[in-house]
Parts: sequence; structure tokens; C-alpha cells
Amino acid sequence: MDSLSFPECFPSEHGFVHFFGTRQSPAALVKTVQVGQVTPVPPDYPCVISVKQVHEKTVLVFDEQLDANSTIAQEGDALVTRQPNVLLVVRTADCVPVLFADLKLRVVAAVHAGWRGAVAGIVGETISVLKHQYGTKEEHLRVAIGPSIGACCFEVDDPVISPIKANYPFWNKVLMPTSATHAKVDLKELILQQLQHQGIAVTSISRSDACTQCDASKYFSYRREGRVNGTMLSGIMLKP
Ligand SMILES: [Zn+2]
Repeated sequence: MDSLSFPECFPSEHGFVHFFGTRQSPAALVKTVQVGQVTPVPPDYPCVISVKQVHEKTVLVFDEQLDANSTIAQEGDALVTRQPNVLLVVRTADCVPVLFADLKLRVVAAVHAGWRGAVAGIVGETISVLKHQYGTKEEHLRVAIGPSIGACCFEVDDPVISPIKANYPFWNKVLMPTSATHAKVDLKELILQQLQHQGIAVTSISRSDACTQCDASKYFSYRREGRVNGTMLSGIMLKP
């Protein structure tokens, strides 16, 4: 089962490599990459970075050269680099993988956004780091939102509903009430709205329609399986 890609966002002719993985793909990475390690996966990926994700809004920047097979103790949910040949990987199984590229300054980011991280503001925090550390301008950013649990399958109650309503004035585009106490949440729409409120044009954003819980043949789903059976890897890299 092939990975999903959005070449309109990250043109390969401009040196961007990216994918949203499935249960089996990309096979070389699924077999090899370890959390908290710098893993060489030649020939396509000389250096792969994957860290422990904690559902918060910490952005980690990797602009220093890293040694192959070294460990990364830092935890975080967004990875940023401008180094070529460094593949940034996030792991998801229902949470939303989001990939970023500044086409002009050539900086890339990979973000893991579950409802906690999304509500905490991991997307805005990533854009803030891109702007302040690199000088990224909104019009040069491209963003792709990958497969995650869909609103079809993600019904929640007050602990999720309240912070969304309290923090996001556009909450009525994200929450669909199902009863007095419950609602369905569209996490991909929440992220799309956050991006637009950060000044990213909708034409600069691509989005998968896939629901990880609905499509068992292609995706792992924590909610469907009731435990972590596995995670999909999604990543982005600059070529020299
Ligand atoms: Zn679904």
C-alpha cells in the first residue's frame, strides 16, 4: 500500500521529498527507524530523526549536524530543520501528521498533532518558530495535512469540547454536536482553520480526506484497535 503525497505542496523538482505513510509503507523506514534515535537508512535517507512525542507544543530545531545512531533525549511534537538529507519523521495512529515547507528559504517541518497538541497550539507554535528563527513569510509556506481519524469516527465529550470552544472562535466549523454533552470533532478542519488564522492561504494547504479508523486495510488506528498496534510514519526532507 503506497504512501500518500502532495507534490503540489512540496515539488520534488525543487528538492523536497515527503510522504504520509501507511501500515506498510515506506517499508525501509517502518522496519528500521527507532524513536529517539538518529537512524541512517541509505540510500534514500542518510539521516532520519524521530523523537518521543508527548502531545504538547514543544518545537525541536535540528540545525546542527547529528551523528548516525546517536540518541535524541529531547521530547517534542514538531521537528524543524534546514539541513539537507535529514528526514524528519512523525508517528501517528489517529492523530494528525502535518508537513510544512518554506519553498523560498528551504526549511521543512514535521508535526504530530493529536487533539491535545492541536488544541494546545502546536501548529501556531511551529509557524512562530519558522517566522522568528528563519524569517519565513506566510506566502512561501506550503502545508499538507495527512490521514487521521475523521469526524465520522471521533466523538468526544466535555474535556475536548470545552477547550476547543474556549480557545477557538471558529469552533462551530470544527465541532458537530451529537447530543447535549457530546460532539464529533474534525481534527483536520481544526488544523486547517488554525493555519488560515495564522495567515496561510487555503490555496497553500493540501489535505487528505482519509479516516484512519474507517480504512483498516491501509491505516493503524488506536481507537479502532484499542491499543497501539503500530504507527504510520510521515516525513519530509530537503535534498542538497
Ligand atoms: Zn471514520
